[in-house]
Amino acid sequence: KMNHTVIGGLFLANKVNDERFTLEDEEILFTLAYQAAVAIENAKLYGEVQQLAITDGLTNLVNHKEFHRRLDENIEGSKRYQYPVSLLMIDIDHFKHFNDTYGHQTGDQVLKTVGDLIKAHVRVVDVCARYGGEEFAVLLRETDILPAVTLSERIRSTIYAYPFKHDGMRSQLSVSIGVACFPQDANNAKDLVKRADEALYAAKRTGRNKVCCCKSSQ
Ligand code: GH3
Ligand code: MG
Ligand code: MG
Repeated sequence: KMNHTVIGGLFLANKVNDERFTLEDEEILFTLAYQAAVAIENAKLYGEVQQLAITDGLTNLVNHKEFHRRLDENIEGSKRYQYPVSLLMIDIDHFKHFNDTYGHQTGDQVLKTVGDLIKAHVRVVDVCARYGGEEFAVLLRETDILPAVTLSERIRSTIYAYPFKHDGMRSQLSVSIGVACFPQDANNAKDLVKRADEALYAAKRTGRNKVCCCKSSQ
C-alpha cells in the first residue's frame, strides 16, 4: 500500500490540439510525475541528512567537525581578503558539580539554554558550535580582538544573570571565556584554537566567570 503525500502539483495543457489527454497520455504523465516526486523526495532527504551530519543533536549548533571546516574556510578567507577573525572558547564553570547535584537531564537542558543564549548574541555569518561536552566555540568574522572581548563580556554577563529554572528551582551558572584573534595572535587555525584555549585556561585559573584574551593581545 502506498502512502500518498502531496509534495507538489503538475499543471499540464494539451497544446497539440484542443482535445483532452487520452488515458494513455495520462498514464505516461503519471509515471513522469511519479519519477519527479521520487527525485524531489530524495533531494529533500539528502539535504536533511547533510544537515544532521553537521549539527549537534542536543543544542542544534554546529558540531565539532563542521566547526573545524568552517574555521579553516574562514582563515583562508581572512588571509585572502585581509580581515581579522576572532575565536571565543566558552566553557561552563563547575558544570560537573551541577550535573552531580541535579542530574544529567537537567544538565542537558542547561546546555541547550546556554547554546541559545550564545547564539542570540552573534550574527548569522558567525559560527556557533558545540565544541565538546560543555564547551562552546564561536567564530566571529571580520572581528578584531576588542569587539570580540566586548561581545564575550556581554555573553558572560548574560549567562551569569540568567535564571536557569529547573525542578521548581532557580540556579545561577557562569562561564569562562578565552579569546584570540587571527592573524595577530596565531599563524594558522590550529594555533588560533590553541591560543584561545590558553586564554580560557587563564580565565579558569584566575577565578572563572571571566573573559581573558590571548597574551599577545592583552
Ligand atoms: P571547570 O569550571 O573547570 O570547567 O569545571 P567543570 O566541572 O565544568 O569541568 P570538568 O571538565 O571537570 O567537567 C565537565 C562536566 O561536564 C563533566 C560532565 O558532568 C559534564 N558534561 C559534559 N558533557 C555533558 C553533556 O552532554 N550533558 C551533560 N548533562 N553534562 C555534560
Ligand atoms: Mg567546565
Ligand atoms: Mg570543559
